[in-house]
Amino acid sequence: MLKKGNKLYSILTGSCPKCHQESMYTNKNPYMLSQLFNMHERCSHCDTKYKIEPSFFYGSMYVSYAVGIAFATAAFVIAFVIFGASLVSTFIAIVLTLVVFLPVIIRLSRNIWINFFFKYEPETQNQLE
Ligand SMILES: [Zn+2]
Repeated sequence: MLKKGNKLYSILTGSCPKCHQESMYTNKNPYMLSQLFNMHERCSHCDTKYKIEPSFFYGSMYVSYAVGIAFATAAFVIAFVIFGASLVSTFIAIVLTLVVFLPVIIRLSRNIWINFFFKYEPETQNQLE
């Protein structure tokens, strides 16, 4: 099982990368599209400021390419290898997968990106900036 303290926990749940105590997002559901990018400014537990600099999350776009490719690969394997779909159907399945999972891909990319810069520190309180 995924536990707090594992980076994957923060990445998959979108919780604070440092204390893993609460969600970084004002709405946990990525399919509330109007709130897809709405994040808390700071963690109310450890006071971590999520946006290290104003354009911090632009970098997550690079991550989203990798995450998108991972989803596309999974769609390819499922459609083409497991279900034996034709190439055209497989292509449609890949495009649909990317469209349907786009909010998840965007959130995952942000979570992965921010976890490059923070590590789990459960005991830290109110560190200096
Ligand atoms: Zn925190």
